[in-house]
Amino acid sequence: MKKTFCCFNIVTVIFFSLLAPNSFASISQKIKPGDTLYSLLKRENFNEKQVRKILVNSPLPRKYHLTSGDLYQITRDKGYREIKLHSPYGNTAYLFWSRGSEEAGAKAIEEKYDVQIVKAEGYVNGSLLAALTDKVGDQRISYRFLDAYVHRYQLNKVLARGAKFSLTYEKLFQNGAYIKPGEILETSLMIHDRQVVRKLVRFPGGASFIDPAEPQLDRSLYAPVNYQSISSRFQKRRFHPIKRRRIAHLGIDYALPPGEPVYAAYAGRVIKKGRSRGAGIYVALRHPNGLETYYNHLSSYRKDIKVGDYVGNGEEVGKVGCTGYCTKPHLHFAIKLNRTFVDPLKFVRTYPFIGKYVIEKQIAQSNHSKNL
Ligand SMILES: [Zn+2]
Repeated sequence: MKKTFCCFNIVTVIFFSLLAPNSFASISQKIKPGDTLYSLLKRENFNEKQVRKILVNSPLPRKYHLTSGDLYQITRDKGYREIKLHSPYGNTAYLFWSRGSEEAGAKAIEEKYDVQIVKAEGYVNGSLLAALTDKVGDQRISYRFLDAYVHRYQLNKVLARGAKFSLTYEKLFQNGAYIKPGEILETSLMIHDRQVVRKLVRFPGGASFIDPAEPQLDRSLYAPVNYQSISSRFQKRRFHPIKRRRIAHLGIDYALPPGEPVYAAYAGRVIKKGRSRGAGIYVALRHPNGLETYYNHLSSYRKDIKVGDYVGNGEEVGKVGCTGYCTKPHLHFAIKLNRTFVDPLKFVRTYPFIGKYVIEKQIAQSNHSKNL
């Protein structure tokens, strides 16, 4: 008995030293188009048994599609392999590792990055997205730039040729190696002959883009998530990635990692909750102002809420997932007004209820200093 105990300890020690950062040199590789966790692990020579163990323990959904062009770090040594994927949001990384077929696994870890702040500017000739990507070399930053304006403008309709843009953003490094873009801290874009500025305000758990001159305090609903990264807008007709035909998209998609909290956009009563083939795990609320809100593709809903229950403003109703018709973890958020789906971007603020205090204080301070 004593001997077993002793050996178990030795194994544990070896394991921890193997899992410690920088135990071997790691190299950066790019995710290829169409990569899934499965195809990536197979390409990196994890055997079938290890892949199965890793997928079972993975914090990411089984059918998770990786984003091509993103970097991952691979560490290889005799019989040992470790892959580190960096989540595009926040400081989470996903570690997949194996030593032998008995010792394979996966987990989410908190990472630390060195931050470098960079500025870029240019002019739009053709598409804003192309002009941005041309300057910053990373599509994630270009899409994030659009998030700063999406609640107020339909950029394809309001941008003039030659419109000037500028941005200040973060680049994240580890041991001198570039890992991923961080947040955009400030943006400026010429709309209707004036430079419209957005500033990033961070609050505990998230961050939002704010224009103190257009604070949207008249909007009744708050954002249902901590990061408002819009991956798909409200459209009466759009190409559906799973059904492979044009079909209406009657809500907006917030791209987020699985497990992120989903909040009630306003106080209300639970009118539906359950699971359906398309929506996956969902919750729906009815609010006193007549609006209804829908939260789809959740990994779980809050167990202690029942149909008919009252939920307070900003209270958690579930967690982000990828259930139902879904290719990548996100929240599908929809609003019904008079039994008709309406564009949520016209009703929600750019920040959740949890960020209200920090953000409204910042707006008040900024408007106060402007008036002095
Ligand atoms: Zn959707």
